Amino acid sequence: MAEFETWFSSEQACRGYLYRLRWPNGFTCPRCSSLKAWPINTKLYECSGCHYQLSVVAGTIFQDTHKSLTVWFRAIWWITGQKNGASALGLKRILGLGSYSTAWTWLHKLRRAMVRPGRDCLSGMVEVDETFIGGEKPGKRGRGATGKILVGIAVEDKEDEGIGRIRLGILQNASANCLTGFVEERVVGGSAIRTDDWLGYSRLESAGYRHATVKKTELKLAHLVVSLLKRWLLGTHQGGVSPEHLAYYLDGYTFRFNRRTSTHRGKLFMRLLENAVQIDPVTQGQIIQHIRGRKTKGHNI
Ligand SMILES: [Zn+2]
Repeated sequence: MAEFETWFSSEQACRGYLYRLRWPNGFTCPRCSSLKAWPINTKLYECSGCHYQLSVVAGTIFQDTHKSLTVWFRAIWWITGQKNGASALGLKRILGLGSYSTAWTWLHKLRRAMVRPGRDCLSGMVEVDETFIGGEKPGKRGRGATGKILVGIAVEDKEDEGIGRIRLGILQNASANCLTGFVEERVVGGSAIRTDDWLGYSRLESAGYRHATVKKTELKLAHLVVSLLKRWLLGTHQGGVSPEHLAYYLDGYTFRFNRRTSTHRGKLFMRLLENAVQIDPVTQGQIIQHIRGRKTKGHNI
């Protein structure tokens, strides 16, 4: 913590760090790709090619923020230290933010940054399964169950090395349409996919994958990930996960899981910031709209 405070004690230090993350090979104009710019003041640069003026936070999640970057950096540092996931209430408390809604918006912005822009798909041997999250009674596969959310799981099987990377995603249902789409978005074509013999997986072969089926009980990697995920949700959110927030929790969980071997907190911090300067800015209004959209479209299962 002391080291963190010395590094990022000033707004300028934070900007300098973002500059190096955003333009690791030096300034590149987002409009004309010119490689030259001069500083106008402490915040703004002007492109020498097209005279476009921009700051290092323009076009990132920090755009239009009224808070100092030092507070944002502290928020990110705190989040990367929360083994069981971060809550808006915790963030509000730790930063002394005035309102819960600011903390909530920040958390959602940062969760978006946990998904790497244009991130690589899984490859090699991948196990795929689905599970229900939430609700009291077990759900039925074909039709779903009220109050439950169907979540798809894709896990790389690294054989002797165990589990590789994972991807999670909310599924509208367990139809071949949804499950094939889930795999196509997350796994490189031509990879080997292992599932059980549910009909929903029957189109993987024609979608260009090598597909092998086993008994459901043999999907050991997916089951392990599911049980860890459920335990994490229980521990962090007391099991009360609202459907509209689950997608964000899944992203947060995936971020942490795929970096479980990087024990260095500084590295997690850097990765999160690296993503944060690459993704487009969103407003609180857009986040709320997005969540509402999910709520009405996504969960009629
Ligand atoms: Zn330019």
